Amino acid sequence: MASVFKNALSQLDKAAKYLELDKDILEILRNPQRILQASLPVKMDDGSVKVFTAFRVQHNDARGPFKGGIRFHPKTNLDEVKALAFWMAIKTAVVGIPMGGGKGGVTVDPKKLSKAELERLARAYIRTFKDFIGPQKDVPAPDVNTNPQIMAWMVDEYEQVTGQKNLGVITGKPLELGGSQGRTAATGLGGFFVFRQLAKKLKLKPKQTTVAIQGFGNVGYFLAKFLHEAGYKIVAVADSKGGIYDKRQLGMDPDHLLKQKQSKGFASGCYCVGSVCDCDNYQKVKSDKILELPVDVVVPAALENAINKENAGRIKAKIILELANGGVTPEAEEKLLAKNKLVVPDVLINAGGVVVSYFEWVQNLQNYYWTEEEVNEKLDEIMSRAFSEVWSLSNKLKIDLRTAAFVLAVKRIAGAIEKRV
Ligand code: GLU
Repeated sequence: MASVFKNALSQLDKAAKYLELDKDILEILRNPQRILQASLPVKMDDGSVKVFTAFRVQHNDARGPFKGGIRFHPKTNLDEVKALAFWMAIKTAVVGIPMGGGKGGVTVDPKKLSKAELERLARAYIRTFKDFIGPQKDVPAPDVNTNPQIMAWMVDEYEQVTGQKNLGVITGKPLELGGSQGRTAATGLGGFFVFRQLAKKLKLKPKQTTVAIQGFGNVGYFLAKFLHEAGYKIVAVADSKGGIYDKRQLGMDPDHLLKQKQSKGFASGCYCVGSVCDCDNYQKVKSDKILELPVDVVVPAALENAINKENAGRIKAKIILELANGGVTPEAEEKLLAKNKLVVPDVLINAGGVVVSYFEWVQNLQNYYWTEEEVNEKLDEIMSRAFSEVWSLSNKLKIDLRTAAFVLAVKRIAGAIEKRV
């Protein structure tokens, strides 16, 4: 398997050609500031102990505290976490929020743990990395397979070990524990705000625009919901268990699909046992085939490398919204761009999550909370401005949107580094 971190660095190298960047700064940007790895022994319900490998990679904090989620996944490894941490540094700079980039992960299939085991794992993660995180150091958040409840255990553990109230150490928390209004829907809504600006430029007509989404977790579901409400036709969706396609292209109701998916209950107290493919009336399609359907917009919203050099040639959609971090490999992107397809990169289209995480952190530090309307209005402002900056630069330099986003971001990070040395 190709290195995801190498892929990320090749995106940086491509952008560096358009920047007059000091060689030393490029070297700094190519290397994480700190890599933490630990073994977490966790007591299972039957009394046995299992040891899980955990990571926290702190890529760059020149613009503010490291920021980025923690994922729980059986395939999580250091190479992946390094790439994700790097993308967080780029992402926070693209949208211009005063934070750096980091990422965490645990190699575990959380769906096989009981709720109590999941809690012990979450708490063990924080006890292990407590000296390296903090509201002014490194602020974790949810990512794949982690959620507000897990963040609640984590913040509680941090407060216990530090002996202080410290809600700003973690974002994506439940509302009852200092979470922000709008955080749960934020990645999907932020993606929708960016897409809305793009649709204006391209003069897309919602009712005549079909969309296929791979991934129906927190990100895929909310994007589907906002697109559906705006009149776009969601004609195919998939989750890790399989997908469905509305061959007549009439459009599906995401809320109906979610209800079906949730109707079989939850593993470990939070993971859906069911799947969107439990819904009758639609043609069953394999999850990866969803991306190759004859639609206008395709959305990888699950894991990295979804569009790669093998399947890139079979993508029919004109527009690719990369909601999943690293959803399109650099080789695949070259193929897509050669066919004049438009790839809206992860570091722009999925930045809504970290933007509202930043709002949550600001609210925690001030101990003063905003309404959902305020949050969403500010989110729209930031996402729309970031889109317009990336779009203009891409037109000005005649480069693709990802390279434009990287040029913008790297300039900002490099500026912060330069002013410090
Ligand atoms: N995990 C999300 C991401 O990849 C959000 C990170 C955060 O809120 O810090 O952008």
